[in-house]
Amino acid sequence: MKTLTIIVIIYGVLVSGCSRLAPTERNLFPAGEWVDLSHDFAADTIYWPTAEPFKLETVAAGKTDAGYYYSAYQFSAAEHGGTHIDAPVHFAEGRESVDQIPLDRLISAAIKVDVSEKAKADRDYQVSAADFEAWETQNGRIPDGAIVLLQTGWSEHWNDRMKYLGTDKRGAEGVAELHFPGLAPEAARWLSENRKIKAIGLDTASIDYGQSKLFESHRILMGQDIPAFENVANLDRLPAKVAMVIAMPMKIRGGSGGPLRIIAFVDRAKN
Ligand SMILES: [Zn+2]
Repeated sequence: MKTLTIIVIIYGVLVSGCSRLAPTERNLFPAGEWVDLSHDFAADTIYWPTAEPFKLETVAAGKTDAGYYYSAYQFSAAEHGGTHIDAPVHFAEGRESVDQIPLDRLISAAIKVDVSEKAKADRDYQVSAADFEAWETQNGRIPDGAIVLLQTGWSEHWNDRMKYLGTDKRGAEGVAELHFPGLAPEAARWLSENRKIKAIGLDTASIDYGQSKLFESHRILMGQDIPAFENVANLDRLPAKVAMVIAMPMKIRGGSGGPLRIIAFVDRAKN
C-alpha cells in the first residue's frame, strides 16, 4: 500500500512538471523539490542539422458534432533531438537499444560538474579529467553508480539555434559548422576506466563537442553500456550532489535513442 502511495505521488509530480511537495506528502518523501530537466517538444525544438525536426499535426481540436470537446494530434521526429537519450547501440554495435537499457541505469543519485565559466570563454570547450578531479577535491570521490551531469551553461541559448549550435544551417553544411562544448575523449576514458558511473548527461546537442569528427566520447562511453542524455535543461537549478535523477526515455523497440523525460529530486535537508 505504501509503495502504491509513493508511486501515485511520483506520478502526480511527473504529470504536473516541477513542483514542491504538499505538506501531507512530506511524511512519505523527504522534503525537497522536483526539477524538470527536459525541454518541451515543438516545431522549433533543436534537432541535429541532418535530422527531421519535431512535427505535430492536428487530427482534431474542437467541438464534435455530439457537442463535446475533443483534441488529438500525431507527432513525428528523429530519435536524436530535443532532450533525448543516446542508447549504447547508437555508437556500439550489438549493445543495448533504448528499450533494453535496465531501469536501474536510468534512476540514481547524480553529481553535477559545472564548467559554464570555461565554456563561456571557449564555445569549443571540452570537459577534461582535470574538471572531474577538481570536483572530487571539493566534494569527494564520484560515488559508484552515480549519474554524471555536465553543466556548460548552454541551455540559456536554447531558443537561439545560432548561439546553441554555432550555426543555423541544415544538412552536412550545418554539421561542419557546429560549435558547442562537450566531453573530451580523454575524460570519457578516465570516467569509464576509473569510476563506475551509470549514465552521463549534458546541456548541449552532443556528448562530443560540436567540432568532433570521430565521436570518440560517444564510442568510449557506449562501448561500456553508458547511455548519454543530451540537450538537458535546468542544470543551473541543481546542486553539486543531487539526491535522485529519473531519466525515462520513450521505449522504442530496437531504437538507438529517443525523446527523454528527465527529472531531478533535490533534497532540501542536504542543500
Ligand atoms: Zn543523440
